[in-house]
Amino acid sequence: MAYDQNNVFAMILRGEIPCEKVYEDEFALSFNDINAQAPIHVLVIPKGEYVSMADFSVAASPEEITGFFRAVGETARSLGLEKDGYRLIANTGSNAHQEVPHLHFHILSGRKLGPMLSR
Ligand code: 5GP
Repeated sequence: MAYDQNNVFAMILRGEIPCEKVYEDEFALSFNDINAQAPIHVLVIPKGEYVSMADFSVAASPEEITGFFRAVGETARSLGLEKDGYRLIANTGSNAHQEVPHLHFHILSGRKLGPMLSR
């Protein structure tokens, strides 16, 4: 699947639409989800143009992969989530109901999150 330059996260990365920034470094940007599903719901996206985990895991450089995963961990750490824990979700493709075609990890926390999947 070709990368869509006009997806909403590409627009956030270009500063064309605002976000509530939580963390940023050379490789990644983290910001609050606009429709939070938990008391803490943050999205972490790589700065490179990757549609999904399927794309990123094949096409990204070792530096981008390392930098992105460090940024996911650092985002959670900066929010103080390590003591009580958090959940990471990366929806990929149609079975997983991925809505935005730019790789993103959801960080969910702030309460007991219950079973992993709803039916
Ligand atoms: P997906 O279903 O693709 O895994 O998740 C996409 C997420 O992006 C959803 O949780 C949705 O609320 C969030 N989202 C969609 N548009 C925007 C936006 O313009 N700003 C922010 N901050 N989040 C968005």
